[in-house]
Amino acid sequence: MIRVTVWNENRHEKKNPRVAEIYPDGIHGAIASVFAGQEFMVQIATLDEPEHGLTEAVLETTDVLFWWGHLAHGDVSDTIVERVKARVLAGMGLVVLHSGHFSKIFKVLMGTTCDLKWREANDRERIWTVAPGHPIAEGIPENILLEAEEMYGEHFDIPAPEELVFVSWFSGGEVFRSGCTYRRGAGNIFYFRPGHETYPTYHHQDIRQVLLNAARWAANINPITTPVYGNAKPLEPLPS
Ligand code: ZN
Repeated sequence: MIRVTVWNENRHEKKNPRVAEIYPDGIHGAIASVFAGQEFMVQIATLDEPEHGLTEAVLETTDVLFWWGHLAHGDVSDTIVERVKARVLAGMGLVVLHSGHFSKIFKVLMGTTCDLKWREANDRERIWTVAPGHPIAEGIPENILLEAEEMYGEHFDIPAPEELVFVSWFSGGEVFRSGCTYRRGAGNIFYFRPGHETYPTYHHQDIRQVLLNAARWAANINPITTPVYGNAKPLEPLPS
């Protein structure tokens, strides 16, 4: 059983009827439905709940946290960001989606600006699988075609990914590192690009398969040995 928490800022859905029409149960609802009937237990958390829905109790019972944010990165409290970061370092998986590239939690874990080029102009996107043997690419075709999406273009100011799983091509000519893995402390992190709120991307079967694979990959199933730091007594007799 993998315990997934889907966090969404849930603001576009309230402000933009087009978004509410595409995602009647919220972007979080569409993402959470990926895990229905699988080996997962799913919780939902949104920005406007107390502690943004990310209480100590929720995070303690989360193996993988999905993060979708865009309009309101600045409204996320630094205390909660620190709490999430501590859990990632202690082994919780984190999957950062689309405009979450500019979230406080992603920026603090990456240590770079995480800036990029963007354009909202119905670009066609082809997401190429460049690590076909990777668990996150399991069952994913050579490329996923999205007829219309927001463009994200290089340069994307991130540290070099530990593994690059997907690269996007856009009809305007740009390319982008769309699927990037990292490890921070004991935590697995995956950034996945697609998912602009005015397109039905999270209903696309292959995109949903990537989210499913990402949850399985990011979860630390086995207990993690807590490292011991600081002044240490010798394990063997030392020469006097
Ligand atoms: Zn967007």
